[in-house]
Amino acid sequence: MTIFEKIVRRDIPADIVWEDDDVLAFRDVNPQAPVHVLIVPKRVVSRLAEATPADEALLGKLLLASRAVAEKLDLVTSGYRVVINNGPDAGESVPHLHLHLLGKRPLAWPPG
Ligand code: AMP
Repeated sequence: MTIFEKIVRRDIPADIVWEDDDVLAFRDVNPQAPVHVLIVPKRVVSRLAEATPADEALLGKLLLASRAVAEKLDLVTSGYRVVINNGPDAGESVPHLHLHLLGKRPLAWPPG
Protein backbone atom coordinates (compact mmCIF):
# COMPACT_ATOMS: atom_id res chain seq x y z
CA MET A 1 0.00 0.00 0.00
CA THR A 2 1.41 3.42 -0.91
CA ILE A 3 1.66 6.27 1.56
CA PHE A 4 -1.07 8.07 -0.38
CA GLU A 5 -3.42 5.11 0.00
CA LYS A 6 -2.80 5.29 3.73
CA ILE A 7 -3.69 9.00 3.65
CA VAL A 8 -6.85 8.26 1.65
CA ARG A 9 -7.81 5.63 4.26
CA ARG A 10 -7.02 8.09 7.09
CA ASP A 11 -4.46 5.62 8.44
CA ILE A 12 -1.90 8.44 8.56
CA PRO A 13 -2.59 12.17 8.91
CA ALA A 14 -2.44 14.79 6.19
CA ASP A 15 -3.48 18.41 5.81
CA ILE A 16 -6.49 17.79 3.59
CA VAL A 17 -7.72 20.82 1.64
CA TRP A 18 -10.36 19.33 -0.68
CA GLU A 19 -12.19 16.05 -1.25
CA ASP A 20 -14.97 14.43 -3.20
CA ASP A 21 -16.02 10.82 -3.74
CA ASP A 22 -13.12 10.02 -6.08
CA VAL A 23 -10.34 12.49 -5.32
CA LEU A 24 -8.42 13.72 -2.28
CA ALA A 25 -6.22 16.84 -2.15
CA PHE A 26 -3.75 17.49 0.66
CA ARG A 27 -0.70 19.66 1.27
CA ASP A 28 2.70 18.27 0.30
CA VAL A 29 4.81 17.53 3.38
CA ASN A 30 7.87 19.04 1.65
CA PRO A 31 6.42 22.09 -0.11
CA GLN A 32 8.24 23.56 -3.10
CA ALA A 33 6.09 26.71 -3.14
CA PRO A 34 3.93 28.58 -0.62
CA VAL A 35 1.02 26.52 -1.95
CA HIS A 36 1.93 22.92 -2.85
CA VAL A 37 -0.99 20.53 -2.88
CA LEU A 38 -1.09 16.91 -4.06
CA ILE A 39 -4.26 15.75 -5.79
CA VAL A 40 -4.70 11.98 -5.84
CA PRO A 41 -7.34 9.53 -7.02
CA LYS A 42 -8.80 7.45 -4.19
CA ARG A 43 -8.71 4.45 -6.52
CA VAL A 44 -5.05 3.68 -7.17
CA VAL A 45 -3.57 4.25 -10.61
CA SER A 46 0.18 3.79 -10.31
CA ARG A 47 1.25 6.52 -12.70
CA LEU A 48 0.09 8.29 -15.82
CA ALA A 49 1.88 5.72 -17.98
CA GLU A 50 -0.26 2.98 -16.42
CA ALA A 51 -3.57 4.77 -17.04
CA THR A 52 -6.00 3.12 -19.46
CA PRO A 53 -9.14 4.22 -21.25
CA ALA A 54 -11.04 2.91 -18.20
CA ASP A 55 -9.43 5.75 -16.24
CA GLU A 56 -10.60 8.47 -18.64
CA ALA A 57 -13.27 9.91 -16.34
CA LEU A 58 -10.99 9.75 -13.32
CA LEU A 59 -8.24 11.63 -15.15
CA GLY A 60 -10.74 14.35 -16.01
CA LYS A 61 -11.86 14.52 -12.39
CA LEU A 62 -8.28 15.04 -11.25
CA LEU A 63 -7.87 18.05 -13.53
CA LEU A 64 -11.20 19.51 -12.47
CA ALA A 65 -10.21 18.92 -8.85
CA SER A 66 -7.02 20.92 -9.44
CA ARG A 67 -9.19 23.74 -10.73
CA ALA A 68 -11.42 23.56 -7.66
CA VAL A 69 -8.44 23.57 -5.30
CA ALA A 70 -6.90 26.53 -7.14
CA GLU A 71 -10.13 28.47 -6.68
CA LYS A 72 -10.41 27.49 -3.03
CA LEU A 73 -6.83 28.54 -2.30
CA ASP A 74 -7.13 31.83 -4.22
CA LEU A 75 -4.67 30.99 -6.99
CA VAL A 76 -6.77 31.89 -10.00
CA THR A 77 -5.63 35.49 -10.39
CA SER A 78 -1.96 34.98 -9.53
CA GLY A 79 -1.66 31.73 -11.47
CA TYR A 80 -0.50 28.25 -10.69
CA ARG A 81 1.15 25.17 -12.19
CA VAL A 82 -0.06 21.57 -12.33
CA VAL A 83 2.63 18.89 -12.69
CA ILE A 84 2.66 15.11 -13.00
CA ASN A 85 6.00 13.36 -12.51
CA ASN A 86 6.14 10.05 -14.37
CA GLY A 87 9.05 7.69 -13.90
CA PRO A 88 12.68 8.06 -12.81
CA ASP A 89 13.78 11.00 -14.99
CA ALA A 90 10.86 13.04 -13.70
CA GLY A 91 11.64 12.20 -10.07
CA GLU A 92 8.48 10.21 -9.38
CA SER A 93 8.83 8.89 -5.82
CA VAL A 94 5.35 7.64 -4.91
CA PRO A 95 3.75 5.08 -7.27
CA HIS A 96 0.25 6.44 -6.86
CA LEU A 97 -0.78 8.94 -9.53
CA HIS A 98 -0.78 12.49 -8.19
CA LEU A 99 -0.98 16.01 -9.53
CA HIS A 100 1.22 18.64 -7.92
CA LEU A 101 -0.53 22.01 -7.70
CA LEU A 102 2.00 24.79 -7.09
CA GLY A 103 1.38 28.49 -6.57
CA LYS A 104 1.84 31.75 -4.69
CA ARG A 105 5.30 32.36 -6.13
CA PRO A 106 6.67 32.92 -9.65
CA LEU A 107 7.55 29.53 -11.16
CA ALA A 108 10.49 29.32 -13.55
CA TRP A 109 10.24 27.76 -16.97
CA PRO A 110 11.67 25.42 -18.15
CA PRO A 111 11.49 23.45 -14.90
CA GLY A 112 14.64 21.86 -13.54
P1 AMP B 1 6.65 12.71 -6.73
O1 AMP B 1 8.12 12.97 -6.54
O2 AMP B 1 6.08 13.40 -7.93
O3 AMP B 1 6.33 11.24 -6.69
O4 AMP B 1 5.93 13.40 -5.52
C1 AMP B 1 5.73 12.80 -4.29
C2 AMP B 1 5.48 13.89 -3.30
O5 AMP B 1 4.88 13.33 -2.15
C3 AMP B 1 6.71 14.65 -2.83
O6 AMP B 1 6.59 16.02 -3.18
C4 AMP B 1 6.71 14.43 -1.33
O7 AMP B 1 7.13 15.57 -0.62
C5 AMP B 1 5.26 14.10 -1.06
N1 AMP B 1 4.99 13.32 0.12
C6 AMP B 1 5.58 12.16 0.50
N2 AMP B 1 5.02 11.71 1.64
C7 AMP B 1 4.04 12.59 1.97
C8 AMP B 1 3.10 12.66 3.04
N3 AMP B 1 3.04 11.74 4.01
N4 AMP B 1 2.25 13.72 3.08
C9 AMP B 1 2.28 14.65 2.12
N5 AMP B 1 3.15 14.63 1.07
C10 AMP B 1 4.01 13.61 1.02
